[in-house]
Amino acid sequence: MVDEKQCLFCRIARGEIPAKKVYEDGECVAFLDINPRNPGHALVIPRKHYETLLDMPDGETGEYFRSVKRVAGLVKNGMNAQGISISSSNGQAAGQVVAHLHFHVIPRFAAEGPPGLESMLSSKRLDDKAMDQIAQAIAKASPEPAAMQDFQPSAPQPRQPAPRPVQAESAIRAAPRPTTAMNKTEQSKKKRDGEDEEEFESIDDEISFDF
Ligand code: AMP
Ligand code: ZN
Repeated sequence: MVDEKQCLFCRIARGEIPAKKVYEDGECVAFLDINPRNPGHALVIPRKHYETLLDMPDGETGEYFRSVKRVAGLVKNGMNAQGISISSSNGQAAGQVVAHLHFHVIPRFAAEGPPGLESMLSSKRLDDKAMDQIAQAIAKASPEPAAMQDFQPSAPQPRQPAPRPVQAESAIRAAPRPTTAMNKTEQSKKKRDGEDEEEFESIDDEISFDF
């Protein structure tokens, strides 16, 4: 957990560290990335310290996304770009380096060629059954607690089954990379909870994963 006093982006938002600011309002600040992937690459951050999007209360996400959209328009028009890539890494496993929520807004130019998501992660081939199971696991999962803070269902909702990210992880495990510490933790927690052990095992067998 990064201390707000020391957090690099909190310090930029407070004006303690210089940055090339391109936009600010009451809640958000946008400034040029110090290692631009293209000229005009900007980062949009909330002034308040949240490590990831899932830590931000629902009541604040609307304003934040409006700012991301505004900055996207400014960057696209200011740089005469033909497109804009918007991305955000949330959590170390996703490659997040600065632990203060930020969206990258990167102008894209027709002349540079089209690398999109594929340049970040190659697409994985999953058969239809695996895709069904994965879709079900995601649709049935609960959001992270922080994202539920402002959520008030109109009628009492039946408790949803706990999220089962291990199903997707089991597919990813088939990829040629070392098992992460996170996977092991998730797996041992799952074993402790005795959660759907048999179902998980059978799903694990069924998922195919081709490159
Ligand atoms: P991420 O990998 O998504 O956490 O991105 C962090 C981004 O912050 C990287 O693209 C860095 O180049 C950028 N960055 C780090 N320090 C600064 C800084 N002092 N001013 C502007 N951008 C920065
Ligand atoms: Zn911060």
